[in-house]
Amino acid sequence: MVSASSVFGSTHALFMTYFPKWNIETSYFEINKPETIESFIKPNTKILYAESPTNPGVDVIDLELLGNIAKKHNLILIIDNCFATPYLQQPIKFGAHLVIHSATKLIDGQGRVLGGVTVGDAELIRQIYLFSRNTGPALSPFNAWVLSKSLETLAVRVDRHCENALKVAEFLESHPNVNSVKYPFLKSHPQYEIAKKQMKAGGNIIAFEIKGGIEAGRKFLNSIQLCSLSANIGDTRTIVTHPASTTHSKLSEEDQLAVGITQGLVRVSVGLETVEDVIADLKQALA
Ligand SMILES: *Cc1c(COP(=O)(O)O)cnc(C)c1O
Repeated sequence: MVSASSVFGSTHALFMTYFPKWNIETSYFEINKPETIESFIKPNTKILYAESPTNPGVDVIDLELLGNIAKKHNLILIIDNCFATPYLQQPIKFGAHLVIHSATKLIDGQGRVLGGVTVGDAELIRQIYLFSRNTGPALSPFNAWVLSKSLETLAVRVDRHCENALKVAEFLESHPNVNSVKYPFLKSHPQYEIAKKQMKAGGNIIAFEIKGGIEAGRKFLNSIQLCSLSANIGDTRTIVTHPASTTHSKLSEEDQLAVGITQGLVRVSVGLETVEDVIADLKQALA
């Protein structure tokens, strides 16, 4: 496999720890250097893998470019479309063979159930279906019911998530205690043009760098009042995470940096609240 280096933590663990047991080897390209992808492709490469936007860095990768590379080298292109949802981005249009979603996030959208989805090429899906049937990752009927009800409101929810997130991102960008903000539909995002080309709106996740590193990040998190402190994303409620002092605190600073986590990085999953309330909470915590 050839994969982007910035992929979801458990995806990374799967590639590094478990796949080698089946003699599946993964080479990594840096998400901001897509021009290097072809140099990692070997005669036995079968899969090209990426997520866009990425978790937690909110980087964006050109799906059309990945589609073209996959076609040229006869690779199966797999895209984790979790942050975008099928409403904002359809990787199959750009040549993806399989698209995966954590339905736990925006597809459920209300922090209630765990679930996942794989869609794509019929023959590949048939093989995945048979494997799943025999090995167990099946959705419970209750979760399936919850998720199918959720799909009925996906579009209206995601519209509001994106509208709120853009306003929060603009607020953060103008705040003196914030060094930088990453949100796909902010003009300052390095891949803004690509995001505009392949996404209907920017999604609900914002990454920002608070001034003052780990201490400031910890203080900010402890000052939050309205938003939730949790590791989930895509809930109705706004969720704030400071990976360096929480989810990734066991890693050394060097290892944190290797997975794109700086000391001051804060991730916000913007919810469906009245956006002025969310901004007021972030504002008092930043102060
Ligand atoms: C959460 C997440 C996953 C894993 O989803 P689970 O529902 O927790 O198994 C995979 N990819 C991305 C980008 C995620 O954010």
